[in-house]
Amino acid sequence: MTITIVGAGLAGCEAALVLARGGLSVRLLEQNPIQRTPAQVSDAPAELVCSNSLRSNNPLNAVGLIKEELDHLQSPLLALAREHAVPAGDALAVDREGFAHGVRMALKEEPLIEQRAEVVTDWGPGPEPWILATGPLTAEGLAGRIQQEVGERLAFYDAIAPIVEADSLDRNIIYAMSRYGKGDGADYLNIPLTQSEYLAFLEAVLAADRVQAHDFEDLKYFEGCLPLEVMAQRGVETLRYGPMKPVGLPDPRTGRDPYAVIQLRAENQAGTSYNMVGFQTRMKWGDQRRIFQSLPGMGEARFLRLGVVHRNTYVDAPRCLDDRMALKGQPHVHLAGQITGCEGYVESLSVGHLLAQLLLCDGAGTPWICPPETTALGALWGHLRGAHKAPGAAHEPNNIHWGLFPPLEGRWKKAERKARRLDRARQDFQAWLEATGRSIVSGGSQGTLRRIS
Ligand SMILES: Cc1cc2nc3c(=O)[nH]c(=O)nc-3n(C[C@H](O)[C@H](O)[C@H](O)COP(=O)(O)OP(=O)(O)OC[C@H]3O[C@@H](n4cnc5c(N)ncnc54)[C@H](O)[C@@H]3O)c2cc1C
Repeated sequence: MTITIVGAGLAGCEAALVLARGGLSVRLLEQNPIQRTPAQVSDAPAELVCSNSLRSNNPLNAVGLIKEELDHLQSPLLALAREHAVPAGDALAVDREGFAHGVRMALKEEPLIEQRAEVVTDWGPGPEPWILATGPLTAEGLAGRIQQEVGERLAFYDAIAPIVEADSLDRNIIYAMSRYGKGDGADYLNIPLTQSEYLAFLEAVLAADRVQAHDFEDLKYFEGCLPLEVMAQRGVETLRYGPMKPVGLPDPRTGRDPYAVIQLRAENQAGTSYNMVGFQTRMKWGDQRRIFQSLPGMGEARFLRLGVVHRNTYVDAPRCLDDRMALKGQPHVHLAGQITGCEGYVESLSVGHLLAQLLLCDGAGTPWICPPETTALGALWGHLRGAHKAPGAAHEPNNIHWGLFPPLEGRWKKAERKARRLDRARQDFQAWLEATGRSIVSGGSQGTLRRIS
């Protein structure tokens, strides 16, 4: 059996190396150097197209934890990133060229990987598996082919609003209520603003720094999904007639509708994270934090994700992929990397890794058992399966963050929660490693797991 992978980016290279090291033949098709994505500047495999940072190494941060898990699974790309690390505090940043050279050599030295330059516009017939790992800037022909399968469930742009942790909101000010008491009457959390607070907010939004569009981004916004700052530019009242409409939401402290309201909608079933409704934005992240934390009841707000609007090709994975990340109706065509609706270098390679493990299990005739959702890898996979989503919430690209994990059982003091979530993840990951036949020992310098075979 030969597995064909389209795209030698982070997900594609990780999957190719895992599969080949597991004994399966791989054909890796990459359009570069025939043509490049507009973000690529070289013909290096797994090119880091922007920052050279793979973000935090600290396992109390979910992206640090996912790296710890990938280390235990002997992720080839993470090992190369560590080999080519440059000093960056508690983050893992890499020497870009060293890393790229390392990936190129690893692919070359692998006899089971055949590499070919090809601009792919379609996949082959089954049953041999295909993996489409063509990333956020998937070339047009193939994107069109995927669109034939999934229709409007393929998106070409992100328009993402910030997500905030529920327990960081001041509930003496922010109140639960649905407009005119619809639904169960308390489906949203509401941030009330006076006129002077509204005008100050507007002024801050208009003055904020924005992320500049790339040359290849043709930012024609949908009227129903305009960035916050574009609405603010249209006039003083535009936001008050849009996402900050105050009617039908009387503040329990005054009994009157506030001058303006920002609504927060539950992002997960447990109600531990909330989405700022209609607040998709291209403001720079530092400005977003500063401006949103200046809102009433938001002084201590902790953001799980900040807003973005950018070019990004991705599918509505929970609806158009099956449990094996294959297109529904095309069970041999799997997707991996950012095109599934994860976001970021580490997340993309994680999905490539997990999918390769799944296909290795197929090859060995053993059942695939996904890491539990309490682990970082399992939470990321769960995000792509729509796990824990509040009803009606859309599938939006996400970095790994604690809001994607199931909530803790029992009540924990705020200060203890991070450590408790980490303990739970490590215990469950260890149990999963054991259940799937990997040998490990507990311990290590920081209580981490260490793999011994
Ligand atoms: C401008 C920009 C800046 C970004 N900055 C960051 C950042 O700083 N940090 C971060 O974590 N993430 C960043 N991202 C997101 C980043 O792209 C992903 O995290 C990561 O690269 C996705 O990995 P991937 O393997 O899914 O796709 P990619 O790494 O994009 O790899 C996809 C590969 O598929 C190839 N390909 C596409 N279509 C075809 C085709 N039809 N036939 C053959 N080959 C094809 C491409 O040439 C490419 O090599 C950025 C994205 C963009 C667009």
